[in-house]
Amino acid sequence: MDQKLHIEPIQNWSIYKGRPLLISGPCSAETEEQVMDSARQLAKLNKVDVFRAGIWKPRTRPNAFEGVGTEGLKWLKQVKQETGLPTGTEVATQKHVYEALKFGIDVLWIGARTSANPFAVQEIADALQGVDAMVFVKNPVNPDLELWIGAIERLQAAGIKRIGAIHRGFSAYEKTTYRNQPKWQIPIELRLRIPDLPLLCDPSHIGGAREYLLEIAQEAMDLNYDGLMIESHPDPDSAWSDKSQQVTPQALEELLGRLVLRQPVSSDSNFLNVLGALRSQIDIFDDQLLDLMEQRMNVAQTIGKYKKDNNITILQNSRWEEIVKKVVAKGQDKGLSAEFIDQMFKAIHLESINHQVKVMNA
Ligand code: PEP
Ligand code: MN
Repeated sequence: MDQKLHIEPIQNWSIYKGRPLLISGPCSAETEEQVMDSARQLAKLNKVDVFRAGIWKPRTRPNAFEGVGTEGLKWLKQVKQETGLPTGTEVATQKHVYEALKFGIDVLWIGARTSANPFAVQEIADALQGVDAMVFVKNPVNPDLELWIGAIERLQAAGIKRIGAIHRGFSAYEKTTYRNQPKWQIPIELRLRIPDLPLLCDPSHIGGAREYLLEIAQEAMDLNYDGLMIESHPDPDSAWSDKSQQVTPQALEELLGRLVLRQPVSSDSNFLNVLGALRSQIDIFDDQLLDLMEQRMNVAQTIGKYKKDNNITILQNSRWEEIVKKVVAKGQDKGLSAEFIDQMFKAIHLESINHQVKVMNA
C-alpha cells in the first residue's frame, strides 16, 4: 500500500451521487449543435454525472481530425449553463489546462498517450499547482503500473486531492478482438496499492466497438469499479472520431438498464455462511497446491544434484516440450484453458530451473 498518497474517496466528490459515476458524451466536440444536442439528450436520461467531450484530440496519424480546440470550450460552458451538467475534457499540455480552467471545466483527464510521458504529466501537474480540480489519469498505453502510479503521484505532489484513475486498456501489436487489451490484473493491482483511489472503466476505448461495451462495463461493475466513462454521440456513424465505439444516448440508456449492479458486501448471514464454507475449501486447495509445489521443487533439486554429479546441463528442451504437450492436453480434458496451463507450467518450469541452478552452483 502506498501510504504517502492521500486520495479523497469518491464518496466525498461533489459529482458523486451514491451510484457508479457515469461520464458520457462524444469522443470529440465537433460542432456547437452536436455538443448541445448530445448534452440535452444525456441530461434527460438523469443518469449522467459528467458530460465529456474531447477538445484536443491526440491522434495516431497526422491529418486526422485533431479536435476543434478552444472554441469548443465555449460550447462546454454553455452545456453547463443550460443543463447543469458538470463538464470534462482531456488535457495534454499546460495551455490545455489553463484554457480548460478558464472556461470552468470541472473534470480534467490525462489521456493514455500523455500519461505514458512523465515530462508531459509533470508539466500538467505544475500547471495544476494549487488548483482545486478533479483530475483523472487514464492508464498509459503500455501496461506499466508504475508509470500509471507515477502520474498519480505527480498530481498528488502538486496538491490535487480529488484524483481518480481510468482504465482504458493497453495497446498491443497483435490484432485482438478488443481494440485495447483490458489486462484487468493491472487496475486490480492499482486498487490494492492505492485503496481509496476512485477507479473508472472506459469500455469504449477498451472495446473499440459498440457490441463489447456491455460485457466490459459489466465486468468492471463486478470488480467494484467506482464508475464508467462511455462515449456517446447523437449520430455515432457520422462521428468525426471513434465512430464504431460510440452509442446514441438512447442506446446508452438501454445498456445501463441491462447492467447488473451487485453489492460488494452482504449482511445476509446465510449467504455469508455458505460463502465462508466455499472460501475455506479454496484455502485448503491453495495450501495443497503450495505443499505440492514444495514437493515438486524438492524433486527438482534432487535432479539438479544428480545432473551436477553426472556433468549434465539443466535444460533439456525435448523433455520440456513433451511435458507441455501432455499437460495442455490433460488440462483441456479437465476444462482448463490451454493458455492457463501453458502459463502455469512455464512459471513452474522456471522456478524448477532456478532451484536446479542453485544446486548446481552450490
Ligand atoms: C478519449 O477519451 O477520447 C481518448 C482519446 O482516450 P484515450 O486517452 O484513452 O485514448
Ligand atoms: Mn475516443
